[in-house]
Amino acid sequence: MSEFEQKFNDSSSPQPGRGIVVSGLELWQWWQEARQQAIAAHVPISEVDWLLQEMTTLQPLDLRLETFKAQQQITLKHSLDVLTDLWQQRLVRRVPVQYLAGSTSWRNFSLKVSPAVLIPRPETELLIDLAVAAVQNSKFKIQNSKFSTGDWADLGTGSGAIALGLATAFPEATIHAVDCSAEALAIARANAEAYGLGDRIHFYQGSWLEPLSHLKGQLSGLVANPPYIPSAMVLELQPEVMQHEPHLALDGGADGLNCIRHLINSAPDYLQTNGIWLIEMMAGQAPTVVELLEQEGSYHSIEVHADLAGIERFVLAYRL
Ligand code: GLN
Repeated sequence: MSEFEQKFNDSSSPQPGRGIVVSGLELWQWWQEARQQAIAAHVPISEVDWLLQEMTTLQPLDLRLETFKAQQQITLKHSLDVLTDLWQQRLVRRVPVQYLAGSTSWRNFSLKVSPAVLIPRPETELLIDLAVAAVQNSKFKIQNSKFSTGDWADLGTGSGAIALGLATAFPEATIHAVDCSAEALAIARANAEAYGLGDRIHFYQGSWLEPLSHLKGQLSGLVANPPYIPSAMVLELQPEVMQHEPHLALDGGADGLNCIRHLINSAPDYLQTNGIWLIEMMAGQAPTVVELLEQEGSYHSIEVHADLAGIERFVLAYRL
């Protein structure tokens, strides 16, 4: 563990019932300076506000109206020195603010994150809506069971975001969440337990569908946000992503499609008839992914869906 990670781990584990008390004025001064530094370093100033909200009980309006300046006492999870240190990590080392706070918002969840997992992105939230729509609108019925009560897989679960989303969207389903990283699984498990979903989501360490051999032919659905960025492009990503997010979760090989290809070829053995295959991909990959699904020959009713920016980012198909 690097010196930074050591410090990060120490500083990001607030002790229950403990906190640091500062005056509103002191915090206001810290906030003003941090905002100036953000502007100079081309970091959105909203990130300072977000970090402060994570570290205190302050609400967006308290910051907007600056009413906290007059407060006698504000309790912080960490001292102002630690906060300053964290903020420097953001500005100088370009560490994503979500890793510094140790959490991120995704759908209706506040999820624990660490550099062992990809920070769940807003666009990925749509995967859950697409899965729900596919179940509700489906004219294709699964034999002997309903889609929403069956077994679903989240492959490459990372922080567990998709698994938690599916477990909430389908309250009677069992979710099987797989990741090859033990560190990621520990985070995903903690997130599931924090929302009381620990018994509805089963966790497995391994490669894609391999740990789920007991579910061959049984899955109602398979959902994944696999690594899909071409290797050379990963190195060109913004420093926050390239230097701090796990390449394991980003790098999809030479053309970015290695994992997606594997999921296309391996899923037919696991999905039941009309079971749902649903993945996220990168802009520009849709025609190839659709072609690969068609060539494989085990899928029908292939659909491409756009994210809110209009980018074709999701492919949905049903097992023949
Ligand atoms: N959406 C992520 C990014 O833009 C990539 C996630 C992935 O490869 N699955 O960095």
